[in-house]
Amino acid sequence: MSFHRLCVFAGSSHGNDPAFADAARALATELLRRDIGMVYGGAQTGLMGVTADGVLDGGGEVIGVIPTGLGDREIAHPGLSDLQMVSTMHERKALMGDLADGFVVLPGGLGTLEELMEVVTWNQLGIHAKPVGLLDAGGYWAPLHALIGHAADQGFVSYGSAQMLRSDPEPAALLDAMAAWRPPQTRRWVDA
Ligand code: AMP
Repeated sequence: MSFHRLCVFAGSSHGNDPAFADAARALATELLRRDIGMVYGGAQTGLMGVTADGVLDGGGEVIGVIPTGLGDREIAHPGLSDLQMVSTMHERKALMGDLADGFVVLPGGLGTLEELMEVVTWNQLGIHAKPVGLLDAGGYWAPLHALIGHAADQGFVSYGSAQMLRSDPEPAALLDAMAAWRPPQTRRWVDA
């Protein structure tokens, strides 16, 4: 699978470890190197902004998707290649997903976790079939892998679904793993 555009989910904060922003810049560099466009939530804050700035500074394509209802609270990045206005948060996520061939997830907070879980669940249900990769800067995602492994051990998540999340600290290796990803053959839940 080759990627035309990837959706980036990332914190609207920078987080405490400088490794997070370094990873955001490294991801931007790798997207540019592969001529892959970026779609994301459209803001200039935090790791979202660091990644978008990196791609834009290198002359790449960045599409932001912002809900009009939150316009007074969310300031759109002024340098975007394209800004898509939608009515609701649900429309935003649907459009970000439609515009992208896959999802790269940087460290982030509740918004990032919520977005991540939705796109993984959609793979599980067969609503879409798009690779999801965790950029594991500073070991940030280790507790999530532990939790999902625990949920699998306890019979709430199939081991096949648990393995759907690709994770790597290096953007190049992560994008290679995502490109090699194949959708699960079964669409069942725990006993898949
Ligand atoms: P969080 O991880 O809670 O900082 O939320 C970041 C994620 O939620 C991003 O991937 C965005 O898509 C979305 N998001 C949260 N806050 C904003 C914001 N102020 N502007 C744009 N998107 C946001």
